[in-house]
Amino acid sequence: MIDDETVARVVEFHGHMCAGLALGIRAAEIGLAEVGRNRTGDDVVAVVETDMCAVDAIQLLTGCTFGKGNLVHRDHGKSAYTFIRRADGKAVRVSPRPDGSDGNDSTWLALFARVRTGTATAEDKAAFIAGQRERCTRILEAPLDELYEVRRVNIAAPPRARVMASLDCDACGERAAETRIRHLDGQSLCLPCFEDALAGDVRLSLTTRSS
Ligand SMILES: [Zn+2]
Ligand SMILES: [Zn+2]
Repeated sequence: MIDDETVARVVEFHGHMCAGLALGIRAAEIGLAEVGRNRTGDDVVAVVETDMCAVDAIQLLTGCTFGKGNLVHRDHGKSAYTFIRRADGKAVRVSPRPDGSDGNDSTWLALFARVRTGTATAEDKAAFIAGQRERCTRILEAPLDELYEVRRVNIAAPPRARVMASLDCDACGERAAETRIRHLDGQSLCLPCFEDALAGDVRLSLTTRSS
């Protein structure tokens, strides 16, 4: 179980308490129990399929971060998280129970919509805050297997972060990792300059065609 002091640290890191963060805390709890946390800095990898609130809890609690290259975002828009231990390759995927109620019933969604669009009354706002708090407490206290399904998976950890060679972009002069440099008409370009050059080519061919 995550103690109150740790929850407070996560809330401070994220900036507010919300249901997403509470769910992230619980997912991290499973990761910690199944494969442990980073000790040397790179012995656990988290693959997250969302980039929402929950991921902040996962970063802080497991020690997997973008900067160390052991937090990998796969943009599936799913609240699912895979934790991998490098030492023995043990990997588990944590995903919300399909039958689990996440509290998103129609009354709550309507209230949320009023708060978001600024049409909420004072009463709505109070109900929303109370509802949020209650939801967070419920999530933090729920048995883990009520919230999440945990499956062993076979997935290789991404290669460890390595030092990459850099090249100067011929257009903007800024230095970029060699693996991100693109070559066009004999020039070495960083990705934004490469995209600009391509867009320029398209504009050019459109002008040529219309004239
Ligand atoms: Zn949040
Ligand atoms: Zn450039």
